[in-house]
Amino acid sequence: MATEKEQPVVVVGAGLSGLATALGLALRGRPSVVLEAADLVGGAAAYSGGQVWSGANHVAEAMGIEDSQELTATYIRDVASHDAPEVLDEKALMRWIEESPKALKYWEDVGAIQWTVIPGLADYHNEADGALPEGRYLTNKVIDGSVLGEWRKKLRYSPYFPVGQTYEEMLGKGRRASYVEEDAPEKHAHAGLPAFGLADGSQPEEQGGSDDPLTFGTGVVASFLARVIQEPSIDIRLEHRVTKLLTNDDGEVVGVRAESPAGDVEFSGPVVLATSTYDWDPELAREMLGTEPEDFGSVAPETLRGDAIHLAREIGADIAKIPATSVPILPGWRSQVGTGFGYGPEYAMPHSMIVDETGNRYCNDSYWVDIVAKTLDPKNKHLPFFLVWDDQHRQKYGLAGTPPGGEYPEGWVESAPTLKELGEKLGIDGEQLEATAERFSENARQGVDPDFGRGTITYVNKFAGDPSNKPSPVLGEIAQGPFHGIRLRFVGTGIGSSGVHIDSEARVVDPEGNVVKGLYAVGSAAGLTTTGTAYNSGIALGRGLVHAYMVSQELTGEGQAADASAGVAKL
Ligand SMILES: Cc1cc2nc3c(=O)[nH]c(=O)nc-3n(C[C@H](O)[C@H](O)[C@H](O)COP(=O)(O)OP(=O)(O)OC[C@H]3O[C@@H](n4cnc5c(N)ncnc54)[C@H](O)[C@@H]3O)c2cc1C
Repeated sequence: MATEKEQPVVVVGAGLSGLATALGLALRGRPSVVLEAADLVGGAAAYSGGQVWSGANHVAEAMGIEDSQELTATYIRDVASHDAPEVLDEKALMRWIEESPKALKYWEDVGAIQWTVIPGLADYHNEADGALPEGRYLTNKVIDGSVLGEWRKKLRYSPYFPVGQTYEEMLGKGRRASYVEEDAPEKHAHAGLPAFGLADGSQPEEQGGSDDPLTFGTGVVASFLARVIQEPSIDIRLEHRVTKLLTNDDGEVVGVRAESPAGDVEFSGPVVLATSTYDWDPELAREMLGTEPEDFGSVAPETLRGDAIHLAREIGADIAKIPATSVPILPGWRSQVGTGFGYGPEYAMPHSMIVDETGNRYCNDSYWVDIVAKTLDPKNKHLPFFLVWDDQHRQKYGLAGTPPGGEYPEGWVESAPTLKELGEKLGIDGEQLEATAERFSENARQGVDPDFGRGTITYVNKFAGDPSNKPSPVLGEIAQGPFHGIRLRFVGTGIGSSGVHIDSEARVVDPEGNVVKGLYAVGSAAGLTTTGTAYNSGIALGRGLVHAYMVSQELTGEGQAADASAGVAKL
């Protein structure tokens, strides 16, 4: 009879967290079967920016950047204290902060990735105690896709980042400009993607070869996948969507049922949910975010349908809810292709602003954190909301698939010779829109925004602005007609924040805080109680890698799991 350690673990989802969990298990001697609903591996992680956030990490330390676990905790606690501090699970926070540097070093030591610090990228909340100007964002060094062999065809490829360029290159010229640089159309054409990073989710036509540099999230996943495929005890099954958790008489999870091209199949073993969020389930988006379908979309893969929440709920597990006002969703738009939605730094670039129907600004409109908090404020919602810009923005930056100076596709963007007329077309008070733009422009010429602080967030200035625009990379007058506008919607990126409730060891718990035996949730499938309302880019991928490290230890008898019911935050 097989010993417990010989029994395969069922990992549900082949995004970054699922692949890393399987790798951790294999390296410690336990086999796994990884069931993936899509016909590609990588999940939202492969579409992502590949920013992996960790306080006190070994890579920054080697560069002489001063940081500590205490400072990291101070930062998270400060940010989390402003909105719903009760959703922060202090025990999970400390466990994550302690394990994160170890986990990231472990993944490098075992050959799953080679880290590098993203140069000059500051923590989001630069005003918070414990924030650092650089050092906590890691990403992978360039990896060549040819190392994946046949698996290269099965790797999801990001249409949202200029894959192949490094962060240093992209930030040097600005994120938008890096898409629209002269050779970008050819690069993207080579990759089978539309020019300028429009999202159609299609796959490279030419695979592999020696000229296939992979960076950003595609590169991070490629690095892990390259290591995963060296482990014969990992069995990845594509097009296997898990539809049910199987339990025994004691309520312990003992396996799953999955839909596959060959019909329904069952797999036995402890289960690790790594299915990410609910982006493509409108009912869950309504429940977690309070958004209606016309105000929400997603740039994450369409297989992110909230399955972890549905599966866990069905067997009585708890769901952790994080307030919508702190969920990392981005202002975006309907796009003509692909997932049908797009987003980009264009809303944060000079010569643009965000207003509501009254024609007034109401937030720091270059910074998604403030946009989400203010737009979805239950006491004073600002839906619908609109992006308005002038012709200088069109000339310099374009929008989504429209290159600088290009004409927007028919019926997508509204344009008018005056702001008043534009307002009427969009359903905004046109006279107030004019007055708002006048004030905005007056201040923008000085490079300041005394009303809402646009231009004060170092991360945004660096990651989203136009570095060549002076005096501020995100501020420019809105004065030159014709004027343009679009109704915005929030676009999810597979983070979601609310999710299956886990304890500090990534074990799923029930509403009383008791561990559901045999069930774990890693990455974005798990509610973000680890940081509460304190999101910073890179926490999603970073936390997933820490969960994978901890769960693979626990399932191979090397974990430090604490008492089953101890310290779980009651939400
Ligand atoms: C454009 C973009 C940029 C982003 N940038 C960053 C960034 O820089 N840093 C950061 O930290 N985060 C970023 N994110 C968010 C981040 O990518 C996700 O939160 C992260 O991928 C979550 O990892 P995961 O392993 O939990 O899930 P995923 O990587 O999404 O993988 C989940 C997998 O589960 C599969 N699945 C779903 N349901 C089932 C089922 N029932 N059965 C089997 N399989 C199933 C899915 O198909 C998918 O492959 C970004 C996301 C996007 C879209």
